[in-house]
Amino acid sequence: MSLNVPYLISFILLILLYSCHSVIKQTPKKQNVDSLLYENPQPKLLFGLPIDSSKVIEGKIKRNQTLSTILQSFGVSNTKIYALAQASKNIYDLRKLIIGKKYSIIHKMDTTKTVEYFIFEPDLQSFVVFSLGDSVYTRLHQKKIDLIERSISATIHSSLYETVIDIGAPRVLVSKLIDILAWQVDFFRIQEGDKFKVIYEEESIEGNPIGIKQITGVYFEHFNKIFYGFRYIADQKEDYFDEEGNSLRKTFLRAPLNYRRISSRYSGRRYHPIQKRYKAHLGTDYAASVGTPIHSVGEGIVVEAKYGRYNGNYVKIKHNSTYSTQYLHMQKIKRGIRPGVQVEQGQTIGFVGSTGLATGPHLCFRFWKNNSQVDALKVDLPPSDPINPNALNDFLHEKNRIIKKLELLTFESPQDKKETPMSP
Ligand SMILES: [Zn+2]
Repeated sequence: MSLNVPYLISFILLILLYSCHSVIKQTPKKQNVDSLLYENPQPKLLFGLPIDSSKVIEGKIKRNQTLSTILQSFGVSNTKIYALAQASKNIYDLRKLIIGKKYSIIHKMDTTKTVEYFIFEPDLQSFVVFSLGDSVYTRLHQKKIDLIERSISATIHSSLYETVIDIGAPRVLVSKLIDILAWQVDFFRIQEGDKFKVIYEEESIEGNPIGIKQITGVYFEHFNKIFYGFRYIADQKEDYFDEEGNSLRKTFLRAPLNYRRISSRYSGRRYHPIQKRYKAHLGTDYAASVGTPIHSVGEGIVVEAKYGRYNGNYVKIKHNSTYSTQYLHMQKIKRGIRPGVQVEQGQTIGFVGSTGLATGPHLCFRFWKNNSQVDALKVDLPPSDPINPNALNDFLHEKNRIIKKLELLTFESPQDKKETPMSP
């Protein structure tokens, strides 16, 4: 067998090239304590792309900038831009390059500066990779969201809101907390010395917090009375329960009176029979005989009980910081119903009439949720059912887990924090 010299040379060259390549790759740029790097070099990645031999340029989308204009300014050919636009179809709408959002361009470090990737970040959670290398493609990626359990506790010194801000907790916790305990605690009457502890799940991406997923447990001390709330998913629906598994939410009566029929529904626009013009009707009219008792749909405090030119005799009740209801055109308001009075669910507050601007005897019932009027017949009312007996054991187990964590939290007011001397 004769030796094939050219073949042998190229074979040796190939080995040399390959080993050369390996050596270069294995040489770390910087001596590091982490000697593992030397054994097994980790390529530097950005958006999951190797950038060891590339340069990264970052920018924010400016007004009137498009993917084309940006790429053209980096010397990308129109042919390639067109191919990319084709590859993006059904993956990412190129018109959605939102002004002010971040993009990165990865180009080769050599003199050609050939653009390899364009990466756009429409929001904190996702990024789109537009590949302009040998294969042109577009890929939408979702970043992994980590859930981290966190807790806060404090004694209220001014308002709940200020206290939460002062201890450096996210302000969104305030509305979430109020939502959970709105039926137990009157958040308009928070006083200094009220205390709270909250365990919640924070969402974070690559170590940066992006929001609060949910509160898992809450302890609230109001006027020396203690309230608990525990999150639990029962029948595929998330709700909050007390220590025994009763829902923290109390529903309203379906209707405030025994009525004959609904004579007019809530609508943004209806013809007003007396004013003879189109007008929004932000209430539900229940036709009923004069004198029919009208009941408060839920417990609460009377905030208004008087005569108005249009409303006639009317009563308004605040049920909690979220819900209020109003009852119009009463023949008369029940004796004793006046501002500041506490009423129970189902308690009679007045009688059907046609005072004010009304054609016949009826009750105009109005419903407020978070200070705006909503359709009482359509509003999504909170459930009030206790935990299903089959799920009770599981709930109690979960409750015990959370209550143990709550017990570990101590109260510290922001003032205490400032006054605490530095440890020696
Ligand atoms: Zn009405």
